[in-house]
Amino acid sequence: MVSKCDNAKTSIHKYSNFAYTTMTIQIRTPEEPTEIDADAFLPTEFGNFRIKVTIDEDGKEHCLVYAGDLKSADTPLIRIHSECLTGDAFSSMKCDCGPQLQSSLKQIQQEGCGAVVYLRQEGRGIGLHSKIQAYALQDQGYDTLDANLALGLPADARTYEIAAKMLKEAGVRKVRMMTNNPLKVKGLEENGIEVEFRLPHMSGVSVQNIDYLRTKNERMGHMLELE
Ligand SMILES: [Zn+2]
Repeated sequence: MVSKCDNAKTSIHKYSNFAYTTMTIQIRTPEEPTEIDADAFLPTEFGNFRIKVTIDEDGKEHCLVYAGDLKSADTPLIRIHSECLTGDAFSSMKCDCGPQLQSSLKQIQQEGCGAVVYLRQEGRGIGLHSKIQAYALQDQGYDTLDANLALGLPADARTYEIAAKMLKEAGVRKVRMMTNNPLKVKGLEENGIEVEFRLPHMSGVSVQNIDYLRTKNERMGHMLELE
């Protein structure tokens, strides 16, 4: 006859076997590759791209959104786009960033080869918090340049070394560049990328951003053809 005590021992023994078996399965791990490139397929509403992420020495994560064979293209179509959360993600009409980004992705797809270098230098390099402070001053009548200066910030704090590095790593040495900003052309050329052509890049002009665009033209050296 089995005592209550014996039953208890049996069940503890069984449980203990079960636990041991379960743990053995859990610690069995498949072999995994040690290095995985941050470079993957990215389907978009504009067409299929790949996205490759580069982390700079400050820990900022920039990306190359590209299509086609950049290495064998002679002068691929390139846009250097600085992050603009309000324009790119929220379709803000205070600036023309969102439409410019979309237009460049469309044009790259039309050619079948090219890249957007998406740089994480929000607000022309001053960061989101400062950009929104500048917007608050613009609400009081400052233009985009004077608002930055009133906050003690540079009009444009962006640099382009990392963009040139990312393009070189993708096998690009010479580009056709979609931009209205001569500083971007200069920034790439100073860092070893030849800009064979500059293609004017107009899109997203609206009643809400025409003053902003005029300021960029008249006071910040941009080359926009505004009415
Ligand atoms: Zn913007």
